[in-house]
Amino acid sequence: MNLTFTDEQQAAQETARELAEKKLMPLAAKLDATEDFPEAAVAELAELGLLGMMTPEKYGGAALDAVGYALSLIEIARADASVAVTLSVNNLVAGSIGEWGSEAQKERYLPKLNTPAGLGAFALTEPHAGSDAKAIRTRAERKGDHYVLDGEKTWITNATHAGTFIVMAVTDPAARARSISAFVVEGKTKGMTIGKAEPKMGQRASHSCPVFFSGCKVPAENMLGPEGAGLKVALSALDSGRIGIASLSVGIIQACLDEMVSYAKERQAFGKPIGDLQAIQWMIADTAVDLEAAKALTLMTACKKAAGEAVSELAATAKLFASEAANRAAYRAVQVFGGYGYSREYRVERLYRDARVLTLYEGTSEIQRLVIARSRLK
Ligand SMILES: Cc1cc2nc3c(=O)[nH]c(=O)nc-3n(C[C@H](O)[C@H](O)[C@H](O)COP(=O)(O)OP(=O)(O)OC[C@H]3O[C@@H](n4cnc5c(N)ncnc54)[C@H](O)[C@@H]3O)c2cc1C
Repeated sequence: MNLTFTDEQQAAQETARELAEKKLMPLAAKLDATEDFPEAAVAELAELGLLGMMTPEKYGGAALDAVGYALSLIEIARADASVAVTLSVNNLVAGSIGEWGSEAQKERYLPKLNTPAGLGAFALTEPHAGSDAKAIRTRAERKGDHYVLDGEKTWITNATHAGTFIVMAVTDPAARARSISAFVVEGKTKGMTIGKAEPKMGQRASHSCPVFFSGCKVPAENMLGPEGAGLKVALSALDSGRIGIASLSVGIIQACLDEMVSYAKERQAFGKPIGDLQAIQWMIADTAVDLEAAKALTLMTACKKAAGEAVSELAATAKLFASEAANRAAYRAVQVFGGYGYSREYRVERLYRDARVLTLYEGTSEIQRLVIARSRLK
């Protein structure tokens, strides 16, 4: 494994860093307060070729590998986790269509996913079925040359602005493990309605909504992958998605460390900067260790993915470690800021809220442990 970066990977990282520092950071607190979707940021990302970051050039993408993607996402998450998760879901959808789609599906949807209008959303979770994805009930019934979708999804990120949904639905209830199939459903398809975005603790500029299907007709050719392969499509999407969430976590840890270091140099207590106190130094050191370990695991996973290796266990490991580490980092950052850390006037308060969901979505920490243990016990 080679962890020196290519010119291309570094260029992508620098482009993302410049956008993050100049455009995203100044707006992040305002978007968090208003819960407005980051439309301008998504337009900028599209302009810079970062929306379809990993999509092959043939379909108008930037053709970055998983390492370039992780490096860019870390920079964006350091500035605004809401923008980063919007981008990571889009890439998860594009990646799934790239992996499982027919040539016609790739030609139709991958170029759209490079644009704000075609933004991706991934609809697996239902009100009664999150970790237990096999228990979904949304039905897709074949009627002639269409499938008709009925059911309800929940927590669907990007749903308010998405043009390209991947939806998991039951095609054959009797087929048990192979009962679920994946479909590409275009935004604004008749019979699909988007509910009100959940009022969230953090990552508030990213919208996660219920999505309702009622007699929603989807052309049969929009099935993604073979009939009954829906769970496989979902699990392979989540393997890549977890590299995204691990990268997002690394970005948040970096932001926490940046804040801790600069505040520790500035804030005085007992006649000296709090950075001179060993208690504060230890929190900074522990966060630096978490940062380097999370970054190394995430980039190692991305490296193996880029080399075409299977990364299910490693992606779960990176996601588990980095997301838990981000929560530790955010806790320490608030602690270093003392009472000010609890004020909405300070960035660490937002980082604390933004970090919390990292151990929940795209598989909770418990589910990551399950994936890792099953792989080791095999
Ligand atoms: C902000 C946000 C955005 C999201 N975006 C999307 C999206 O875009 N698309 C999408 O499809 N979903 C999305 N989700 C849903 C997310 O993936 C689920 O919330 C997550 O998978 C957990 O499912 P659940 O909430 O139903 O919890 P449950 O599955 O009900 O879990 C409850 C608790 O039980 C534990 N648990 C469950 N099963 C086991 C087990 N076998 N072993 C040990 N512990 C277990 C869990 O770890 C958790 O602690 C999003 C969620 C959030 C909060």
